[in-house]
Amino acid sequence: MWQVHDVRDIWDLVVVGGGPAGSAAALRAKQLRPRARVLLLDKADFPRDKACGDGIAAHGGDELALLGVPDLIADYRPTDRLSVISPGGARVLATVARPNRVVPREVFDARLVDAARARGVEVRRHRVRAIAARKDHVVVDDRLATRTLVAADGANSTVRRLAGIPAGPERHTAIAVRGYADVPVDDDVQFIAMQQEGWPAYAWSFPIGDGTANIGFGMLLPSLRATGLPGRQVLHGRLAELLPDLPARRLKAHHLPLSPGRPKPGTGRVLLAGDAAGLVNPLTGEGIYYALLSGRLAGEAAVEAVGDPLGAYRRTLRGALGAHLLTTDVLARAAQSPRFIDAAIDVAARRGEVFDLLVEVGLGAGTVPLPLALAVVGRWLRGGPPASAGVRRRG
Ligand SMILES: Cc1cc2nc3c(=O)[nH]c(=O)nc-3n(C[C@H](O)[C@H](O)[C@H](O)COP(=O)(O)OP(=O)(O)OC[C@H]3O[C@@H](n4cnc5c(N)ncnc54)[C@H](O)[C@@H]3O)c2cc1C
Repeated sequence: MWQVHDVRDIWDLVVVGGGPAGSAAALRAKQLRPRARVLLLDKADFPRDKACGDGIAAHGGDELALLGVPDLIADYRPTDRLSVISPGGARVLATVARPNRVVPREVFDARLVDAARARGVEVRRHRVRAIAARKDHVVVDDRLATRTLVAADGANSTVRRLAGIPAGPERHTAIAVRGYADVPVDDDVQFIAMQQEGWPAYAWSFPIGDGTANIGFGMLLPSLRATGLPGRQVLHGRLAELLPDLPARRLKAHHLPLSPGRPKPGTGRVLLAGDAAGLVNPLTGEGIYYALLSGRLAGEAAVEAVGDPLGAYRRTLRGALGAHLLTTDVLARAAQSPRFIDAAIDVAARRGEVFDLLVEVGLGAGTVPLPLALAVVGRWLRGGPPASAGVRRRG
């Protein structure tokens, strides 16, 4: 059995997974405690690809600034135009209050890992297969010991399973495929087309600014299974059907653990962050902002609350996202009715503050004030076809 011979054998923090959650945890720990011993493990070498829409909301940019890397993606084009078609055909085309960026994950994640390495984090290629809890540390693969272990190893987290925390239920799991397609260099509209069939389901096109766009299609896993058809056939077929002018290459699919099914955020000295913690927005599939935020808070807890990192992490995570997650839990239920989304988009097309709020709830940590919730519910209950066949522009 592995023995700790010397306290210097024990890392202050071992992070499993070098995606945005893991890099954020490592970056934050070294930012707060430059002398802390921080090890980042990933089964892959970077740069590595990750199935994703590559959309990084302005809120993700805020997190990069907090982590001390404000210019990490400043060379990518800001995009502030967003067009959404609801399942029943309500449309909105408007300018978001703060621009998003689209950065291929091959680039984004490698830059984050490089930034962590530059800050003194040790980065190793290693696939974690075993963990064992001891009184005041965790042993990883029988040969590493750490005061705190952050599981940032994604949707199918091995560490979460090894820690005995079950994944979220399948009804709260989505699956999506992404590819890349050629678009005009000046195409600067992020486009989302929702689909009535198998709702909730939608396709997207997110232009990068270099003549290509990340395009994709996602739906709930139980709806995919209900088709009785092979997953590839359904996902690739629906994508081609919804975006017929954009033939895709490099198609790749992955699960999205939606936040209404989130597990508890850890156990003992193991903290879950990002997709491992089931932090994906059920309305939009956004997960990068949550990954950066939860990773940052986990890294903070590891070095600032060594006695009880999980207690500190629970508190700060609840403070940052508690009210928002309750909001999206409720909205995800309401959104099971496509007519609710029709009503929301219809109202958003005519009222700028509702549009802004939907963006905050879908991409950030926003909550819904009661009067606005009532406006959407009122429109929903009145029913009828969407009134906003038109488009709202501003800015
Ligand atoms: C098709 C698709 C489109 C999406 N589009 C968007 C979007 O446009 N915007 C957005 O914000 N979110 C989007 N998401 C969600 C987003 O991709 C995730 O929320 C985000 O990647 C979560 O980051 P993470 O760091 O938690 O995990 P990941 O990015 O999945 O990173 C996990 C890392 O852990 C490593 N790992 C796994 N197991 C082990 C192990 N046993 N040992 C060592 N390392 C291990 C992996 O190699 C990987 O590098 C999309 C998801 C999908 C599937």
